[in-house]
Amino acid sequence: TQRPPAYRRVLLKLSGEVLAGPDSPISMEVTKKIARQVAEVYGSGIQIAIVIGGGNIWRGTTGLKSGLDRPTADYMGMLATIIDGLALQGALEGLGIPTRVQTAVEVRNVAEPFIRRRAIRHLEKGRIVIFVGGTGNPFFSTDTTAALRASEIEAEVILKGTKVDGIYDSDPKIHPEAKRFTQLRYLDAIQKRLSVMDSTAFSLCMDNNIPIVVFNVFTPGNLRAAIFGEPIGTRVCA
Ligand code: UDP
Repeated sequence: TQRPPAYRRVLLKLSGEVLAGPDSPISMEVTKKIARQVAEVYGSGIQIAIVIGGGNIWRGTTGLKSGLDRPTADYMGMLATIIDGLALQGALEGLGIPTRVQTAVEVRNVAEPFIRRRAIRHLEKGRIVIFVGGTGNPFFSTDTTAALRASEIEAEVILKGTKVDGIYDSDPKIHPEAKRFTQLRYLDAIQKRLSVMDSTAFSLCMDNNIPIVVFNVFTPGNLRAAIFGEPIGTRVCA
């Protein structure tokens, strides 16, 4: 007999770079791979909201180096997340999954505005809601957006899908002996200044008691394992 999922409603955070190909900021080939992972869990009765980043196209900090002011550079980053959200929507709908894109930055012809109650209604109707535009404010990140939206829609967990299989005590690409944490406390994650998420995002999760599971979204079956509460990646909690 099939076990039920461990959660009723989850928020999946995807960095923009999980959509990137070897020589393009967005590869539909790669995006479809991610969509297939989502398709595998869609229909298990779980409600899924997604926050997508934009770092594959533009990051505020990139612009700073070239002399742009921070707000302008950040607005560009927020717009980048909209492009990524549309790519992801296309890939999911290609697999027959109904989706809605809701944006914090108004782009009326392209996506719905973010309306909390409407987002929840979509989820209840079995649609995947993709939140784009970040928080709509400069000086924030899409990880913080994930923490904010998860709190607003009362998601029980943030599943942070990345290219690495969890949080390490040092960079595993540089230090082969790096150790992966299976569990980590919010405060330790903040104090160690782990680059996996910024401190604003961690503290918002801590304040609202939302655990975070960091896992490799490219390993087939991983998203499914995360949703069924199996111990994969690194879990950050109280
Ligand atoms: N951004 C912002 N406010 C937000 C979310 C994002 O200004 O609430 C900007 C910021 O410049 C950031 C960029 O959008 O660098 C892309 O988001 P992020 O770096 O979080 O994307 P990811 O790393 O997840 O791909």
